Amino acid sequence: MIKYGELTTKKANRKMFINLLENNIKNILGNIDYKITKDRSRMYIECNDETKVVDKLKKVFGIHGIVVAHKVNTNIDDIKAKVLELINNNYKTFKVNTKRADKSFEIHSMDFNRIIATHVLKNTDLKVDVHNPDVMINIEIRIEGTFIYTNEIEGIGGYPVGVQGKALLMLSGGIDSPVAGYLALKRGVDLECLYFESPPHTSVEAKNKVIKLASIINEYSGNIKVNIVPFTEIQEAIYKNCPDSYIITIMRRMMYRIAEQVCKKHKLKVIVNGESIGQVASQTLTSMITINSVTNLPVIRPVACMDKLEIIDISEKIGTYETSILPYEDCCTIFLPKHPVINPDLNRAMEYENRFNYQELIDKCIDNIETIELKEQNKFEEYL
Ligand code: ATP
Ligand code: MG
Repeated sequence: MIKYGELTTKKANRKMFINLLENNIKNILGNIDYKITKDRSRMYIECNDETKVVDKLKKVFGIHGIVVAHKVNTNIDDIKAKVLELINNNYKTFKVNTKRADKSFEIHSMDFNRIIATHVLKNTDLKVDVHNPDVMINIEIRIEGTFIYTNEIEGIGGYPVGVQGKALLMLSGGIDSPVAGYLALKRGVDLECLYFESPPHTSVEAKNKVIKLASIINEYSGNIKVNIVPFTEIQEAIYKNCPDSYIITIMRRMMYRIAEQVCKKHKLKVIVNGESIGQVASQTLTSMITINSVTNLPVIRPVACMDKLEIIDISEKIGTYETSILPYEDCCTIFLPKHPVINPDLNRAMEYENRFNYQELIDKCIDNIETIELKEQNKFEEYL
């Protein structure tokens, strides 16, 4: 049983929220066997492998609580056995709470509470605590069977992915951008990813690493595409035509230009990236002004004001860290100048980049983008 929490306060949009959440759950559960139904305040998923389903539901934004209810036949022995199995000596105190929706069941709720409590006391070391029990044993006796559940599992919260539309995440193989993507998803922003590769200077391993990172954050969306941009020619042209100290500034201006065009072509609203203020020369505020000035699209930087350690904490929590630290070269590191300019001047950047016909190279990049849809199970598993 799934509880929506915060969602239910948004009255006007509620139906849309719930339908979107259902759709997201279906995307994330993929080809697991289950049946889903919903009403105004809850969603119900019937399944056999609840551990697997709960693990996946814990990654669905917009879910605030998950209750695992076990269905048994309505007879005392089956109910007793299931109750013992569920509490399993993991707790010190308990309380039984029976609801009898099926009035044809002859034992009244209070009496049934006593019968089950006596059975638990006899067979475990648990004690009764009616005010503040470690575990509440809920028993709902219904026509279709008896449902038994204990404590609620906390959901991940946030808004259903997609409620804010879609953005383009500039995804590199580093630590920051997958975390930025995760944080955007949490606020209901669905994503497509954009990765710049420069073969043969960057390897297939570097590309697979990025696809792997995308597939990890896709566990929170189920709907992510990765667009891979062949960036070699642009990088070589920059290297050939521009002074060393401006290579990174101009390379990033090219990335933003391409990102903007992909947003327009794929109807994506904003750009998201993993820039963090002051982290490297290209992320000083002055650098950001010079780089950002090529686009009018909002650029969302979820980790802009976080320390590296805070970002690492999140990346460990969401499971991207181990992959992010694999040592493959990214296109940002291959032509790294010794002294990148810290306060790049906009006019100079424009003057240098106009030394070659970058628009033609950008158009070519965009025409040759390779797109991988992680939703397609076969492709998805290849990278896991
Ligand atoms: P690190 O975690 O090591 O800082 P990073 O991915 O943040 O790695 P930066 O050079 O700091 O690397 O890049 C800043 C941001 O620019 C990234 O977070 C990412 O959003 C974007 N970016 C950098 N390189 C690429 C790339 N090859 N493809 C797509 N986006 C990139
Ligand atoms: Mg970074």
